[in-house]
Amino acid sequence: MKDQLSQSISHVAVIGSGIMGSGIAQSIVQSGYNVTLFDTYQSNLEKSFEQIKANIHKWCDRNGNSEEAVSIVRRLKKAFSIEEVSKAELVIEAITEKLEPKQQLFLQLEKLVDRNTILATNTSGISISKIAEPCLYKDRVVGTHFFNPVHKIPLVEIVGGEETAAHTIETVIGFTRSISKEPVTVKDVPGFIVNRIITPMLNEAMLTYEKGIASKEDIDIAMKKAMGHPMGPLELSDYIGLDTLLYFMEHVYKETGNEAYKPGDLLRNMVENGDVGVKSGKGFYMYEKARSI
Ligand code: NAD
Repeated sequence: MKDQLSQSISHVAVIGSGIMGSGIAQSIVQSGYNVTLFDTYQSNLEKSFEQIKANIHKWCDRNGNSEEAVSIVRRLKKAFSIEEVSKAELVIEAITEKLEPKQQLFLQLEKLVDRNTILATNTSGISISKIAEPCLYKDRVVGTHFFNPVHKIPLVEIVGGEETAAHTIETVIGFTRSISKEPVTVKDVPGFIVNRIITPMLNEAMLTYEKGIASKEDIDIAMKKAMGHPMGPLELSDYIGLDTLLYFMEHVYKETGNEAYKPGDLLRNMVENGDVGVKSGKGFYMYEKARSI
């Protein structure tokens, strides 16, 4: 259900059609919005679009309204140039977890969109104020941190930077509720709430494996059985993307000096070799469906 503020939004653009961008775009289009999806890699965009379409058909079939799928898919557009996102009232960035490309993108977006358009980032933990730094209008820059897999996890962390306007935060809170997700607000600190707490555990699991203390399977079994987690930490790391985890950890370690986020050699080597988890077909485990990145 849209509230008064989020009623100002009917068209959302999602930039980056990787794991998160695809999931975010799907959840939003299924909630009745028009969505434009853009990625600099056309093959990623095409694959993502086909995957979202298939997921929507499955979702509609499961809910017993197969006819609805066609009209939902019609609201989803592929953009082949970034200029095509200019009409969106909300843009959600879900590109690589690196500060500079995100800053460059926000600068580019600022020139394209309307003054009232909200610019949101799905960063896992880079400072919202830093991403907004080169922008002229920092009041409309905000963090909307979705979780993987987006269609299953009903949480979005809403993060205001130093200059984010209260109106921007209220609007994205309303928007989040309108797509059936629970918003929580958090200060602009490295890792926000969830990643701040969970990443040291994932890192320790990788180091435990690297040091030969236990096999990867036993590490995952132990944490699933003892803690009731649905996935083991190494499986979860593969699922998140080892590159995304590495960039995030490097960033938080640099910002805070907290050794709990210091990546081990194994993680670095795996990322260097392109073994980044589910999306590349190989991480701690092997996966059938490889997706080029
Ligand atoms: P990903 O590697 O799966 O996808 C990133 C996509 O962005 C790729 O398709 C790439 O081609 C595209 N891209 C890169 N630079 C671009 C640009 N300048 N313009 C347009 N497209 C560009 O990454 P992901 O896992 O989807 O992560 C995206 C963001 O979401 C990151 O900031 C990450 O930290 C965050 N995040 C990830 C997870 C997770 O579990 N993977 C969870 C929450 C948040």
